Amino acid sequence: MSVRPILVFGDARLEAANAPVESFDAALASLVDDLFETGWQAPGLGLAAPQVGANFRLATVDLSVGKDPTQKIVLANPTITETSGKISLEEGCLSFPGLFTTLSRPREVLVTAQDEHGEPFEIEASGLLAQAICHEVDHLDGRLLVHHLRGIKKKMFLRRVDKMRKTEVWPAQPNS
Ligand SMILES: [Zn+2]
Repeated sequence: MSVRPILVFGDARLEAANAPVESFDAALASLVDDLFETGWQAPGLGLAAPQVGANFRLATVDLSVGKDPTQKIVLANPTITETSGKISLEEGCLSFPGLFTTLSRPREVLVTAQDEHGEPFEIEASGLLAQAICHEVDHLDGRLLVHHLRGIKKKMFLRRVDKMRKTEVWPAQPNS
């Protein structure tokens, strides 16, 4: 397992198309391990493959942040099939280090996905788990925190991004 650098907003790979996971092989298992390890170290509740530059429909979620192995969830090719309710929540993202905003999320979601072996499963999630899953599925569609915002709220968020870029909290882009 290894900790990989997490890409920050501005890197094109965060908004690129993500290919479906088709080979549930050793390379995938290794990427899954790296996603968990990188997420634990950040620390964060989840991490999507494009955040480490791997453009696949793959993400991991672990609300225990490495403390409880039974909470590890691998989401390969996830689809949110049903949602219910709406709630306004504060949300951050490892690709926007140090920044938070409020946005609207469903209260409950029904999700189908495959695990690291390709086995299909379904999860009914609410609360923080629903929020984390929605956040990761957004990443797989190239949808980031800023894309949820409109008008003045978006403008102000982008201004905060510009300020954060000048701090050490935001790592330099590897390719720019
Ligand atoms: Zn994120």
